[in-house]
Amino acid sequence: MTNYKTLDDLPDIQGKSVLLRADLNVPTKDGKVTDMTRIERLKPTIDTLISKGANIIILSHFGRPKGQEDMEYSLSFLPALLSTTWKHHVSFKETTAKITLLENTRFNAGEEKNDNALAQSWADQADIYINDAFSVSHRAHASTEAIAHKLPAFAGHLMNQELKALNKALETPQRPVTALVGGAKISSKLDLLNNLIKKVDYLVLGGGMANTFICAQGYDVGKSLCENDMLETARTIMENAVKENCTIVLPTDFAVAEKFESNAPHEIVSISAVPRGKMALDIGPDSIEHIKSVIDKSKTIVWNGPMGAFEIEPFDIATVKIAKYVAEKTKHSEIISVAGGGDTVSAMAHAGVKNDLTYLSSAGGAFLEWLEGKELPGVKALSS
Ligand code: AMP
Repeated sequence: MTNYKTLDDLPDIQGKSVLLRADLNVPTKDGKVTDMTRIERLKPTIDTLISKGANIIILSHFGRPKGQEDMEYSLSFLPALLSTTWKHHVSFKETTAKITLLENTRFNAGEEKNDNALAQSWADQADIYINDAFSVSHRAHASTEAIAHKLPAFAGHLMNQELKALNKALETPQRPVTALVGGAKISSKLDLLNNLIKKVDYLVLGGGMANTFICAQGYDVGKSLCENDMLETARTIMENAVKENCTIVLPTDFAVAEKFESNAPHEIVSISAVPRGKMALDIGPDSIEHIKSVIDKSKTIVWNGPMGAFEIEPFDIATVKIAKYVAEKTKHSEIISVAGGGDTVSAMAHAGVKNDLTYLSSAGGAFLEWLEGKELPGVKALSS
């Protein structure tokens, strides 16, 4: 993994200005923030910088204004909320307080082009650059990449915490390592699956994507979600897994129903007995027990994607039971567990284990690219 500097390595920053790249692309509804996680998680970095006497200038994007000033995406709604949450006054655009939030970085056409001149215009305002936005570091943008070459660059607490957790889970893990991968389709997760078979001891597949693997083994999965154009790809992944000494664990039974609907009448069937007119919406009780036994053998769990259609009861059962099992074993220090990407955060929240895993990553795309084994430009730039 890249060798980067953290806030512990900071020089004396008393009276100096620090540019902090944060991810304040928070979810909102009717102008109100609906989830405070990203804001709350930044507080430790803010507190450290304030205690060291620095002035903080925050850079963040919000939505996709496409390089133009579009007030629908202005960050002007945030300073008041940041001030109350962080208990330090935050000013907007003009530096009238210790902390200043600049306007949406993506109002500048150069941001997504990783433009040097834009990065320099920010760098000219400060002495130090800190990236605390792992979740946008898979993008080589002016505020995540170019700027890191213009000032002494450091990882904030949140970035450091995320990188350490991910490193512990896949780069230098305690073995055996088990990856649980679910969700709808394999077509969106090919790079991820191909990377994981090289790194993990067990690859447990659930959710809709497991249907494609089951189908590739010659079973009829009825009306289940199945990518027929991916059958050959699924077979290749299974063959490569054998070469890499990775055991793929597939479901042995399903909860099947006629309709993708809450409380749709359902039955449990073996994978070899899916009725023509029915679809697998969750993995079944035998599969759950088998997955628990694989977890029992493991020291490290990496999880992306739900085991079934967890948004509609009772097809959330496998996701919830396995999440609770992973959380319990994590609590007893029997395993290290890292989860994230796509719907995984809401699946863990639904299971009531959001705070019970070793690390639940709030970074969507960046977490997935890390699972795919890609080097993230914003992280790489911190060490060069
Ligand atoms: P992803 O974003 O790829 O992680 O996929 C998450 C979505 O997969 C969720 O909306 C689930 O409802 C859906 N999903 C999981 N299992 C199934 C299944 N067996 N059939 C249909 N959809 C599923």
